[in-house]
Amino acid sequence: MKIDRALDSRINEIDFDQISFGSHYSDHMFRSEFTNGKWTNSIIEPFGKIRFSPISLVFHYGQAVFEGMKAYKDKNNEVFLFRPKENFKRINRSAKRLEMPSIPEEIFMNGLKKLIDIDRNWIPKYYGKSLYIRPFLIATNGVLSAKPSKNYMFMIISTPADSYYKYPLKVKIEEKYSRSASGGVGFTKAAGNYASSFYPTRLANENGFDQILWTDSSTHTMIEESGTMNVFFLLKKKLITPKANDNILSGITCKSIIDLAKMDNISVEERDLSVSELIEGLKNGELKEAFGCGTAAVINYFEIINYRKTNFRLPYIPENKRISLRLKKMLLDIQHNLSEDPFRWRMHI
Ligand SMILES: *Cc1c(COP(=O)(O)O)cnc(C)c1O
Repeated sequence: MKIDRALDSRINEIDFDQISFGSHYSDHMFRSEFTNGKWTNSIIEPFGKIRFSPISLVFHYGQAVFEGMKAYKDKNNEVFLFRPKENFKRINRSAKRLEMPSIPEEIFMNGLKKLIDIDRNWIPKYYGKSLYIRPFLIATNGVLSAKPSKNYMFMIISTPADSYYKYPLKVKIEEKYSRSASGGVGFTKAAGNYASSFYPTRLANENGFDQILWTDSSTHTMIEESGTMNVFFLLKKKLITPKANDNILSGITCKSIIDLAKMDNISVEERDLSVSELIEGLKNGELKEAFGCGTAAVINYFEIINYRKTNFRLPYIPENKRISLRLKKMLLDIQHNLSEDPFRWRMHI
């Protein structure tokens, strides 16, 4: 791997007390090219513009997949990644479904570790804050015919992050639009999944909702995800999350919360959850908590679930009694090296 260091750091341009997500990118980026069936030209270089041919397939047919992960600091400025191998495995699952080449483990992991090491000053040193890392793989050259590209570029960039949402969310059960369909690409982090959710999300925003609660595309009777988060519901003292399938993205935060909850003797069910079961729980008060989770958002509490013009308000639970907050703290404590790491999720950089 070639390393071309930035002559000057831009780190003084950012105020770490008031991070606005995505407004500043760390000094360096990593990239590696796939040409003639081989990965070559791995390099860490100053963050900046890159040139692509206008016929690059990513612009026409959306052959693009990505990941989202974070680096954290502990009290002594030591740096940790959280379950990075899971992101490595998932980007290759996504790549396979989009007919893209898989990224070798040493390219992904070495590029990632070296980049984070070089840009470690960019990781905020506060509980809950982190450096958000975006690995992505795109199709470069093409010949404008609708066939998979022969050339690809894998890149990693990063940006300091606060926690994503700071207030309880109002979510709307969606019965018209879908995020994913059976047999489709909903289980992948394909770029186009996001593009197709922007329009229905804007409509929901205009009606006063922060996020959509997605249901299955064929019947709109089963709960899937919310926005770009997996979802959990505390119903009849059980923590229920829709089981990952090809409509639902298998979130690393979600998997971690399942393990933490089980360790905490909470009974967890990964299963189908219908809209009617959810609405019944809202009506009879047996639904106590509802939240979404993901790397960007960590855990976000829902205060209102809307269904067919009715807003159902979740019961008020004092913060010190909320299971969602307890699990969030357990997760953040592991991520920031404040507690034991029983599942060996941390990777020290
Ligand atoms: C990325 C993503 C998630 C969350 O996954 P994490 O690994 O926890 O960050 C959930 N749903 C969708 C659709 C996603 O793209």
